Amino acid sequence: MLESENNLLEIRDLSVEYKTRRGVAKGVDAISLNVPENKTLGVAGESGCGKSTLGRAIMRLVAYPGRIISGDIIFNIEEDIVTSNATIKRGQVNLLKLNEKEMRAIRGKEISYIFQDPMTSLNPMATVGTHFIEIMKAHDPTIEDEKAIDRAKKILIGLGINPERVTDYPHQFSGGMRQRVMIGLALALKPKLLIADEPTTSLDVIVEAQILEEIAALKDKFNLTMILITHNLGVLAQTADNIAIMYTSRVVELSPTLDLFEKPLHPYAQALLQSVPDVTHPEKQLAWIPGAPPDLVNPLPGCMYHPRCPHAMDICTQIVPPLVEVEPGRLVACHLYLEG
Ligand code: SF4
Repeated sequence: MLESENNLLEIRDLSVEYKTRRGVAKGVDAISLNVPENKTLGVAGESGCGKSTLGRAIMRLVAYPGRIISGDIIFNIEEDIVTSNATIKRGQVNLLKLNEKEMRAIRGKEISYIFQDPMTSLNPMATVGTHFIEIMKAHDPTIEDEKAIDRAKKILIGLGINPERVTDYPHQFSGGMRQRVMIGLALALKPKLLIADEPTTSLDVIVEAQILEEIAALKDKFNLTMILITHNLGVLAQTADNIAIMYTSRVVELSPTLDLFEKPLHPYAQALLQSVPDVTHPEKQLAWIPGAPPDLVNPLPGCMYHPRCPHAMDICTQIVPPLVEVEPGRLVACHLYLEG
């Protein structure tokens, strides 16, 4: 965990599992992380390593057949939350101990989520304005439609969208515009924590750069704390303060962004960074990681990276390396850094 006195979020020993026909697979395996206030934590790794499961677990939105099996998710609430269905006192609350009504009062208002694909997250039968009205009324049923639409228009202007388009339907927007609408909806209630799950995956590189710039500007404007989930390390280089590298449901390295890019410590992090194109050295051949991640239903003993790791030792095939601080502020799960 990156220790800090002003953590907005503390995840302790969180595990999520999925029941499949072939057996149980760990989606998130004993993860502990801190997210300091106003900072951005990037979460990176190959597809299927548990990044999105981690994000959804924080929102308690892990879909069946997944379920959170253990851990604590401590979130710091600044002011009492009072809705018609729930009252939550200010201070640290364990999200995993809240009932569903209390959790609904947290979602959107305290923690918001931008999903990967806006087209499947927006209701094709509802106008953009209706989406804003619904999200605002879910937290304040007394708010009038006109007032909600006025707020929606202001948010759309801030995102570079003509406010008159509140009456348009999602299919009438381009992919980039739809993602902007999703960002607007996520920020409508001024949350403290924004979880963005591959927010630019379906966009071309130009729109991707614009959206990332806008997200960074909004983060500063709204004093947001962010968790940015992506497989694209280039995106994190520009936006994240700290990066957690995940492999097979576990965090294998957690480092400040600059340190990670300058000198990745975990062999998997090293290989990931070597596979990022370097525009300053176009002649350089991209590296690739041999093999594929192991089957999570039949997990390997020891370090799950050992069949692909050029530094694997005997101990790596037997004992799971714990995530420990090996340099100030840098945590790594690898036997290369463990004495004895
Ligand atoms: Fe490689 Fe062993 Fe470190 Fe795993 S623990 S990354 S196999 S050296």
